[in-house]
Amino acid sequence: CGIIGVLGKHEVAPLLVESLKRLEYRGYDSAGIATVNNGKLDRRRAVGKLWNLSDLLVHEPLAGKSGIGHTRWATHGAATAVNAHPHRSGPVSVVHNGIIENFRDLRAELAEAGISPESETDTETVALLTRLYMERGMSPREAAVETLGRLEGAFALLWLFDGEDDLMIAARKGSPLAIGHGDGEMFVGSDAIALAPMTDRITYLEEGDYAFITRAGADIFDHAGRRANRDESRIDLGQ
Ligand code: GLU
Repeated sequence: CGIIGVLGKHEVAPLLVESLKRLEYRGYDSAGIATVNNGKLDRRRAVGKLWNLSDLLVHEPLAGKSGIGHTRWATHGAATAVNAHPHRSGPVSVVHNGIIENFRDLRAELAEAGISPESETDTETVALLTRLYMERGMSPREAAVETLGRLEGAFALLWLFDGEDDLMIAARKGSPLAIGHGDGEMFVGSDAIALAPMTDRITYLEEGDYAFITRAGADIFDHAGRRANRDESRIDLGQ
């Protein structure tokens, strides 16, 4: 329901949780974050209020300057820690808003490849499919775009990868995503409000867009894979 992503200069876990708090008004039943630290992907998830996630992080800290976070409003699968985002399969981690309508078909296809999910969610199929494509030799960028081409429904997605300290991949189809530009830092939010403490320089993805984001900036492509120029605007949220 709420998405946040940061390629930062500082430890991101506190910032991710802080940003998720700004998305609380959208409602949620569970929350989680994933980071890449020295190339290693890891995550923490908790049911209930964000306090539960921040408590967990005190006892089991998550280091790293690159990370993604999510507040979940369950549509497929109960509100449990296993169903909470970020979802992970091997080197791939994903947060997702909305619904992947054809996830049952994709699951059946994954089952044929011997891959079974651990959660009940539609979201996990995105991580599983991306991993499968990477195992077949694709780069994270190629695998995410290939996966995107397989998905039906209305969604916003944000990927983070093991071994990739300087890459997030964002996609928008029916559910908004904003990219925030910092000074040597980049941000993604399902809502510009979540980004307000970090930056007022925002680029909104348009319908069908996807973006490869590094600390140097965002390369944005349209639904047909053509490089797209999307304006950067200054937003005044009055904070
Ligand atoms: N359909 C996904 C799930 O149930 C995402 C829900 C959301 O937008 O938070 O996990």
